[in-house]
Amino acid sequence: MQINSELLQKLKVAAVKNAGSYVEKVLVSSTEHGNFGMDLVDRLHDQLPATACDNCGACCNSISIFSIEYHRIIRDLMTRCPPERLRRFIVSALRLDQRQAEIGSEKRLRCVFRDDETKVCLIHPVRPFACRIFGLLKSDGTRECERVRDINFPPQTVSEEFLTELQSRVLENSESYEPFEGTGKIHFFPVEFWIYRYLFSPQRALQIYREVMIPMSGALTSFWKDKRKFADIETID
Ligand code: SF4
Ligand code: SF4
Repeated sequence: MQINSELLQKLKVAAVKNAGSYVEKVLVSSTEHGNFGMDLVDRLHDQLPATACDNCGACCNSISIFSIEYHRIIRDLMTRCPPERLRRFIVSALRLDQRQAEIGSEKRLRCVFRDDETKVCLIHPVRPFACRIFGLLKSDGTRECERVRDINFPPQTVSEEFLTELQSRVLENSESYEPFEGTGKIHFFPVEFWIYRYLFSPQRALQIYREVMIPMSGALTSFWKDKRKFADIETID
């Protein structure tokens, strides 16, 4: 699958023309969503071991999250960020072309919340499951990143079953969509997908996910290839 360059170009133009009104639309949609699921997300996040790491940023690439995590993040941003910072966030979410990077041997989309110059995560207190579970001590004594350290002693191990149970409670309360006909619905999509879903429509967001984001991200390409359904997906250089 080749990238849809026309669609990527439309996103670039929209970022320049409509950033102001898009900020408003994103904030209004999360306000209308209300508090549903917000406490649940916080409580489940709190059940995970607290960790610190070397903050090299290598793993801070576009992350897939649940819809209620998305609303939790937007509600946090709207209470903390001045309008100009929100505008830059929305522009960055639309400018996928500016965030493609080579991480190791793979093309990745850098996380829209990571500032590579200052090494700051814009949403660290409300970062999603995907970030919190990366590098946790597993039952077999290994970590996905050996530079992750537990803050509390002794370190707490987490099992796959425990993580699945926690995430299933978020999943039950989140929206789901079918990216490709016949694949079934999934609940986790990149942050950008949720922004497009509320700015445009679910159908448009799915199109951008399929035709722009998957070909631009080695991780998403691998995910769908692993499912052995779309062996023709190719990343772009
Ligand atoms: S978890 Fe590891 S790879 Fe990710 S930022 Fe921390 S040190 Fe870097
Ligand atoms: S949300 Fe924060 S911790 Fe997670 S990938 Fe993005 S920058 Fe890194």
